[in-house]
Amino acid sequence: MTSAPNQAQSLDETEIPQMMRAVLKAEAAPGLTKVDDYLVPDLGPGEVLVKVRAASICGTDLHIYRWDDWAASRINPPVIIGHEITGDVVRVSPNVQRVKVGDFVSLESHIICNICEYCRTGRGHICENTKIIGVDRDGGFAEYIAVPAQNAWVNSPDMPDSISVLMENFGNSVHTALAQDLAGKYVLLTGAGPVGCMAIAVAKAAGARAVFATDISDYRLNLATTMGADRVFNPLNDDVVGGIMEATNGDGVDVLLEMSGAPSAINQGFTVLKADGHVALLGLTARPINFDLNNNIVFKAATVKGIAGRKLWATWYKMQNLLESGQVDLTPMVTHEFTLDQYDEAFETFESGTSGKVMLRP
Ligand code: NAD
Ligand code: ZN
Repeated sequence: MTSAPNQAQSLDETEIPQMMRAVLKAEAAPGLTKVDDYLVPDLGPGEVLVKVRAASICGTDLHIYRWDDWAASRINPPVIIGHEITGDVVRVSPNVQRVKVGDFVSLESHIICNICEYCRTGRGHICENTKIIGVDRDGGFAEYIAVPAQNAWVNSPDMPDSISVLMENFGNSVHTALAQDLAGKYVLLTGAGPVGCMAIAVAKAAGARAVFATDISDYRLNLATTMGADRVFNPLNDDVVGGIMEATNGDGVDVLLEMSGAPSAINQGFTVLKADGHVALLGLTARPINFDLNNNIVFKAATVKGIAGRKLWATWYKMQNLLESGQVDLTPMVTHEFTLDQYDEAFETFESGTSGKVMLRP
């Protein structure tokens, strides 16, 4: 679809309502509120309006839902939450060129400034002025969302929306797993949450010799096996260190992907890490932890990398290629689907730990 420059283009203006349904953090307290009369957002310069097809719940949303210390310190109600979003572009600001009305998109949740040192040197994933959709500004648990055009990743029109909704989260898996060479390596994933389970499939696609996974939830370990884990361990019942040493002929693993944020899992992971091994840390600990730096990193000559978000846009191209080639299949990951109205049930399901990704449809 083409249009004259400097004219906002839209599908059919009469089809875009003025008011929409949205689920928001209305006040500084636990829970969320659904409203039917939220204004469909106006577009700022360089923005596009996306009609949301689906949005999935992430751990960050759960923090905001419960209103814990982090949420209380970070969120300024009222704000629509949700930052894992897929939908169709229905309106674009004048001068937006790459993204067109009718494009089927997934959204990058980090809005970067493009002017700081990191942005200007190709490292926008650590932009010092990052604003997050659904945290710092209105998110996707709504019928429509306005975002900078640069945040819209255009998908193939035939991609299922139950997969495209996962892109943002999947980007964490891809960024973490591919932060080091995995071909022919023994890999341990600690914390088989949604990001971890998707990372298992990436590690297998990258040629890992074997991927081991740990989690304290048997439901999650089953999902890990479905996604390709060769052996799984539940630290509540299994000897993780002994089991992994035995499975690697006493050598340990070459690579640790840490996605639990649990101090005991971090310690187990570093204990079975071979000398000169590589570690990618994605999981966030609840508070500062005690850690044996000397034995875990220094004397092991380990290489440790922290992972923030997704590389813009190198990770997104890798994601697209892994999915389009069929090297990674995320179909098993979305285990529950609800309507926007059923948001409480959706959060309860996600909170229970007996789910993969939980998705809301407006
Ligand atoms: P999640 O909370 O769903 O997954 C964490 C998993 O770790 C859960 O399945 C949990 O059962 C498991 N776990 C808890 N204790 C464990 C233990 N002792 N041993 C093994 N497993 C244990 O989170 P997620 O959405 O999959 O994200 C993974 C982690 O990455 C979280 O800590 C999240 O906060 C973090 N994260 C970081 C970034 C970033 O940019 N660095 C982005 C997204 C998520
Ligand atoms: Zn920046």
